[in-house]
Amino acid sequence: MTEQLPIIIAGAGPGGLSAALALSQKGLPVLLLERNVIPTEVGAGIQISPNATSSLKQWGVWPHLEKLVVSPDKIKIHSGITGSLLTELPTQDYTTRYGSPYMVVHRADLQQALYHRASQSGLIEMLDEREVREITENETSIEVRCKLANGENRFYRGAALIAADGVWSRIRTDFLNNSPAAYSGKTAWRTTLPKQMVPASFDSENVGLWLAPKAHLVHYPIVGGQMMNIVAIVDEDWSEEGWNTKGDAAWINARFARWPREIRELLSERDDWLKWALCGHDPSQNWVRGRVALLGDAAHAMLPFMAQGAVMSIEDAAILARALTEIDASMETRLLAYEKARKKRVSRVVARARQNGRIYHMDGPLAAARNLTMRLLPQGQLVGQFDWIYGWKPEDVHF
Ligand SMILES: Cc1cc2nc3c(=O)[nH]c(=O)nc-3n(C[C@H](O)[C@H](O)[C@H](O)COP(=O)(O)OP(=O)(O)OC[C@H]3O[C@@H](n4cnc5c(N)ncnc54)[C@H](O)[C@@H]3O)c2cc1C
Repeated sequence: MTEQLPIIIAGAGPGGLSAALALSQKGLPVLLLERNVIPTEVGAGIQISPNATSSLKQWGVWPHLEKLVVSPDKIKIHSGITGSLLTELPTQDYTTRYGSPYMVVHRADLQQALYHRASQSGLIEMLDEREVREITENETSIEVRCKLANGENRFYRGAALIAADGVWSRIRTDFLNNSPAAYSGKTAWRTTLPKQMVPASFDSENVGLWLAPKAHLVHYPIVGGQMMNIVAIVDEDWSEEGWNTKGDAAWINARFARWPREIRELLSERDDWLKWALCGHDPSQNWVRGRVALLGDAAHAMLPFMAQGAVMSIEDAAILARALTEIDASMETRLLAYEKARKKRVSRVVARARQNGRIYHMDGPLAAARNLTMRLLPQGQLVGQFDWIYGWKPEDVHF
């Protein structure tokens, strides 16, 4: 009997871990290589919509997650100038409407849950502190060279390589010759607050979204409701790579000095801010070359205005696993079928996120018109415009 080569995955973020689970559930062996320690612990909250929670349930991740997630009843949208409520989106109806819940969770908890579930699979091998540096391809397989923390090299052979190495993917630029991530001119500032420190005027059970010219703010409960995640997105001329840059609390407080009092109070509670430069890709570039395919942010990093980046990587994983196991063709043809099945939808989501960014940060008469529309539009119509995103199911895809 010939040995079945594993599918190698570079990167153990939400995309890489999801791909490992989806592939292994279809019976494919997986070798997951991560440059840091697994599970990686980049701290932030994350919203996961029904189009991804359905796969998490199917892969058996839910039991590892359910005590740590919150399924909020609504998203409350406010003016960041007057503080007034513009509208509410009833997220408690999403389970009935889309067949799976909407949830908010700490990113580290999501990573842990994916990791624990992957550890239970006899088909997934996970090796950390291995940075994929070089790729060599031949007719029947692929070989990757990894650099270890001690400087040594290790070589691994697989049937294909899935590059889930994130927004600053080197495989994207060096192996597929695509352009690097483009800086959007915006940064995300993020902190968390224990529930008991949240000012009483705040609804800490639900998602709050506050809109103002050139900035917006989102907060929601994480860690089973014990913490509040706060993200402020602002225009800023700063574009360093990385997830762990400390933000200056005085700067972000000054930036929000003219916002409603409750927001100023909320921001002043904490001085441990992290900040990231928000970058995006043109998703129309190539995702596949030979036996190598991009997945998640490496293929289509997007601005976080639709909260769909990680969600799209989970969708990618479900479709990749189907393409590799349901299509009887060469590896490249199967990977190209995955790319084709994903590209149009992801491009539409990327465009919608950009559009949301423009709407969120409007100024003057445009902002007044936006606020009026939000106040007047019936809730059903507001929610209905997202049916094509949240109502998606992997089984609806045909190759
Ligand atoms: C402010 C903000 C808020 C967001 N909110 C949401 C949200 O609410 N909902 C949502 O769905 N998405 C959200 N996102 C997007 C989400 O964080 C990303 O889309 C998601 O992390 C992408 O997952 P990934 O696995 O593709 O990449 P990553 O999470 O970046 O993981 C990549 C992994 O690859 C590893 N790696 C890199 N290079 C190598 C290499 N050469 N070899 C081996 N390993 C390597 C890295 O160490 C890392 O562990 C948000 C993003 C931001 C910035």
